[in-house]
Amino acid sequence: MKQTLTQLIEQKESLFRDQWRSSVEVLRDRVELFSSDSPVFAKVHRLMLSVIAIVENKESAEQAVDAQLRPIVFRLREIQSTHQLSSTEMVVMLFLMRNVLKSMIEDPALETPDHHAHEALKQASNLMNRLGLVFFENAMRLGEEDAGQHDVLAIEYALLYERTRQIAITDRLTGLYNFGYFLERLKEEKMRAERYHRLLSLIIFDIDHFKKYNDANGHPAGNEVLKKIAEILKEEAREVDIVARYGGEEMVVVLPETGRKRAAELAERIRERIASTVFNHMESQPLKKVTVSAGVATYPVDAANEEALVKRADTSLYEAKSGGRNRVIAYDPGNRVTIRYQAPREVSKVALVGNFNNWDKEVDIMQPQDDGVFQTTLPLAPGTYHYKFVLNDLEWIVDPANPQKTGDGWGGENSVLRVIA
Ligand code: GH3
Ligand code: MG
Ligand code: MG
Repeated sequence: MKQTLTQLIEQKESLFRDQWRSSVEVLRDRVELFSSDSPVFAKVHRLMLSVIAIVENKESAEQAVDAQLRPIVFRLREIQSTHQLSSTEMVVMLFLMRNVLKSMIEDPALETPDHHAHEALKQASNLMNRLGLVFFENAMRLGEEDAGQHDVLAIEYALLYERTRQIAITDRLTGLYNFGYFLERLKEEKMRAERYHRLLSLIIFDIDHFKKYNDANGHPAGNEVLKKIAEILKEEAREVDIVARYGGEEMVVVLPETGRKRAAELAERIRERIASTVFNHMESQPLKKVTVSAGVATYPVDAANEEALVKRADTSLYEAKSGGRNRVIAYDPGNRVTIRYQAPREVSKVALVGNFNNWDKEVDIMQPQDDGVFQTTLPLAPGTYHYKFVLNDLEWIVDPANPQKTGDGWGGENSVLRVIA
């Protein structure tokens, strides 16, 4: 029998309490009322279950939410008056519930039974948000006589929103972003890369023989290793990179505007640094040190969408493992495309730039051949690419041997390269 979301949440009562507790942590001094042992919590919890039951049993959750908004607000008002809660407290409570639900959606430990249930959970969290806004407006109205208080409230809510949102997207052990946030951002960055013809790379790290480390030294010691590695990843990555905990002992870095070479360089730097870092009990490991393996893949060169990108990075990670661990492997799509350029006059340097290397003339230098032709071979997945040459670091030239040209927003014309499977 299919498990309903309500059943799931009931079963995960302790997880729910946990999420709640960490969400209210930041507010503890101010809102004792919201401790998970308080009678208000029990009531709110029951209310939340009924909200979820509403959204999960309807064809169109959106419609259901609209239809149910009034009666729910009505019931909330009853709770408010029974427990003598201020409007401010109601807002805090609803936004917290929203964040608790959100962090449940994003918790990789919680396997939602199916897509529909997952959607319902999202709807419920949206509903909490809307309810929060209803009571927020109410609180604002009550504060109207005092303009100063109005501002204070607005600022407090903004801060509260930010801090609770932060909790919802953060992995508690490592302080990295969590899996849910990683997926969200990967999707966003893929869309950005697509729109602006940029590259997007992904690195997946996995600790080598970590089970052995845990078995020899215990789980808490293992956790310390995880924290330290997370720290190294954060230090080495750029501000714009997204570093997240992918799963148990797997961490990912999303690198916007970065091609395969640069991504592999970063992965290699991190791998080296970890291998040369002193960890407690590291002599218990087969290599006498703590090491990681990494897989790298790049959009759109290796994969057509974000799911495929994760798969490709994972394939490379698997190769790194079977190749002996403590190494970085960048995905190789297998296709080889050779591009040649015959310079009409003497040039000392030719670079090939395109949307397979982020137009970086430092990276893809073509090799001069005996016959004076510059040549390079690239591994490229099937797809459409744009490119041109840079002569002597200065002059841009569209491939004279490739008459098919197009403007693609990259400063005039580019040659078009179609790679067919
Ligand atoms: P491999 O080199 O093939 O990756 O070997 P491995 O032992 O690391 O691989 P496997 O994926 O089989 O084991 C992963 C282990 O990571 C299992 C578990 O003991 C450990 N692990 C996962 N999450 C955590 C965590 O949160 N804390 C600790 N301490 N250990 C964890
Ligand atoms: Mg693993
Ligand atoms: Mg491992």
